[in-house]
Amino acid sequence: MSANEPGQPPLTPTRGPSITSFDLPVPAVALAVGAHPDDVEFGCGATLAKWASQGCIVHHVVCTDGSKGTWDVRADTAALAQRRQAEQREAASRLSGANAGEVRFLGKVDGELVDEVETRAAIALAIRELRPDVVLGHDPWKRYRLHPDHRVAGFLLCDAVVAARDPHFLRHQLVDGLRHHRPRALLLWEADEPNHAEHVEASIVTKVHALEAHESQFESTMHAVDDAALDAFRARVRTRLEGLGAAIGTGPVEVFRVINDL
Ligand SMILES: [Zn+2]
Repeated sequence: MSANEPGQPPLTPTRGPSITSFDLPVPAVALAVGAHPDDVEFGCGATLAKWASQGCIVHHVVCTDGSKGTWDVRADTAALAQRRQAEQREAASRLSGANAGEVRFLGKVDGELVDEVETRAAIALAIRELRPDVVLGHDPWKRYRLHPDHRVAGFLLCDAVVAARDPHFLRHQLVDGLRHHRPRALLLWEADEPNHAEHVEASIVTKVHALEAHESQFESTMHAVDDAALDAFRARVRTRLEGLGAAIGTGPVEVFRVINDL
């Protein structure tokens, strides 16, 4: 696969058998943290849509402003960032319907996300305030990935989980009744060594519908420059998830590295 391809990577024969768990209990609250608008939909959209259809409240945090997400050299990048916020809100609504929760934008400059305490604290605060049972994000240990924001967003989330769960981290946040919070599980997408799968047959359509809310990304990310190419994109998403399932002898899945011991 391309070093830049977002979301769910194909399984190789050597990686397939490492899947040892399926289908977490549906969480009451989930929080997904992506580097850019659209990363969450690529990485775990079908899983979130499945859970939302069963009552889960789904929150989003987007770390950067997405202002580099175009091939148009003359683009107004401030306008693009605004447009991408609207697209992300629409995508969150399409994914989760009445169970769509908050969409928080940290507003960091696209391409320049840094692993530092202020941003980690913002994500930890989201975990403490929104109190998710499950958090989801980029796997920062994925090898040979080029895009720095995906790697950094993964580390920020892992570090924020640690900060959010322990009462002596970021103590200034723990005022007015706000308490530390330990999620039950962390799911990392794009994992080189996934060990968990979520069956998503019924929610692939919703994942694709949510991805299509990111119209500004049709050219650069989805290569959907006309109706035929958009149809091909839809088919690629489905084929990828079917292929992931076929590699482990089941129907379509999204795969993750699950960390239960938080
Ligand atoms: Zn991204």
